[in-house]
Amino acid sequence: MRLPIIAGNWKMHMTKEVSLDYIKELRQNIEGTDVEVVICPPATLLGVLKEATRNSNIKIGAQNMHWEEQGAFTGEISPLMLKDLDIDYCIIGHSERRQYFGETNETVNKKIIAAIKHDIKPIVCVGESLEERNAGKTESLLKEQVTEALKGLKPEDVKNIVIAYEPIWAIGTGETATPEIANSTIEYIRVIIKELFGDIISEEIRIQYGGSVKPNNIEELMKQSDIDGALVGGASLKAESFSKIVNF
Ligand code: PGA
Repeated sequence: MRLPIIAGNWKMHMTKEVSLDYIKELRQNIEGTDVEVVICPPATLLGVLKEATRNSNIKIGAQNMHWEEQGAFTGEISPLMLKDLDIDYCIIGHSERRQYFGETNETVNKKIIAAIKHDIKPIVCVGESLEERNAGKTESLLKEQVTEALKGLKPEDVKNIVIAYEPIWAIGTGETATPEIANSTIEYIRVIIKELFGDIISEEIRIQYGGSVKPNNIEELMKQSDIDGALVGGASLKAESFSKIVNF
């Protein structure tokens, strides 16, 4: 049995006061949920929200990190710094970071290794563009992304990783992959994990779907056999809609 995990990716949104009100509302709305809930705010709010969520069932994740522990890397944040704030998760390799900030499978791999070393759980994003899907390249692309991302890891490390399958054509577009497409693609990711790390890990690893998840489509997505949760962008920006998603 895999524990469902629903994470909100706030991207470059939110300021302190608004985010504290949000957390207050979310805490009340999701009390008693048996879903694992993660909020990934911008870096400026990580410390504030970690404090605001103490003694709650809300975990806090970063949206990115560097792989080095410290050094001359202006503007970057290290795993050591995240651990210093007690941060639980870190999104790694989001398609926006791959597209706009030069993230590659190789840097994704370095970041995952560094996160695990510091006991930060990675939420690793993979997914194809519309052109790649239309050209029938989804499976080969995912195989490459997953294999490269998890290179050099031991099976016991992989067990603690969350993979987020996010087709780029469904992110922020209002166009969700149908639950069936999302599920069959996630099933395929499980096959890749099985080839790389064996049966048990492929059954244990949690794989989320992401891309225009909303209160009105979460239930169908969560009914699918292989979808273990969601990575939610736009609909995570209001506590009300994110709570509805958590309470699907
Ligand atoms: P969206 O974003 O829910 O706004 O489509 C998802 C994501 O980018 O993680």
